[in-house]
Amino acid sequence: MSRRRIARRGKVWLVGAGPGDPELLTVRAHRLIASADVLAYDELVSPQILAIAPASAERIPVGRRAAGCRHHEARIHPQVIVRAVEGRDVVRLKGGDPFVFGRGGEEAEELAAARVPFEVVPGISAALGAAASTHVPLTHRDASASVTFVTAHAAAGDGSLDLSRTIPRSGTIVFYMGLARLEATCAALVAGGRAASTPAAVVSHATLPTQRTVKGTLADVAERARDAALEAPALLVVGEVVALAVESPAEMLGGPSAALAASG
Ligand code: SAH
Repeated sequence: MSRRRIARRGKVWLVGAGPGDPELLTVRAHRLIASADVLAYDELVSPQILAIAPASAERIPVGRRAAGCRHHEARIHPQVIVRAVEGRDVVRLKGGDPFVFGRGGEEAEELAAARVPFEVVPGISAALGAAASTHVPLTHRDASASVTFVTAHAAAGDGSLDLSRTIPRSGTIVFYMGLARLEATCAALVAGGRAASTPAAVVSHATLPTQRTVKGTLADVAERARDAALEAPALLVVGEVVALAVESPAEMLGGPSAALAASG
């Protein structure tokens, strides 16, 4: 039996880049980006985070809108596999957390099938970033004992939203990828038994300097968000917890911690 030497394969790190603010990277993500040889990244990853990589790193944009890119039928960008097979290590950066609507599971399957070793580095998912930056607690002993992350793309076979099978009757719900379907989502929740008066918020560009939040109820938050021309990426947060956001006294008074944040 011939025993051709098999070249060492590079390793692929599936790395969560967090919701946008570079300070919300994990220490491990920062270290991997700062020493990356090949960086393959989604369109949601902010330029400040990409700037952490060495100037010499090869950069591969793999977002679905990347110029000339037709790979989205594939589960992972072919160049990622090619580089790993060539023996190069690849940092595959994804917005938020790789395993929360990040297709990290599919990419891991492809890497395993191609016999490319990989590791997963968690990131702060958009819902957690938005909760912190808007002061909306996702759970609260007085208001919500559960939180559900849902993709607003989860549609029934006929294209209508069928939330009855995925959404519990109480608790907080955070919808990802839902800006284009706000009306349909809110209407489906009300049809499913949630009160039209349930507090709801749309958070756009969470944790970034461009963050904007629109609050209302299931009856009117979609229209309010539309009137405010909120832009993607955005989340819809639904539940009594939205009404429990409190403002920080230091922010209101411009106290010492505000000064600290400004000087940092
Ligand atoms: N893996 C990512 C989610 C990818 S799906 C994570 O864990 O966060 C993309 C969706 O995430 C967007 O449509 C939007 O709903 C949400 N999203 C990502 N970044 C966001 C941000 N900074 N602010 C608000 N929503 C965001």
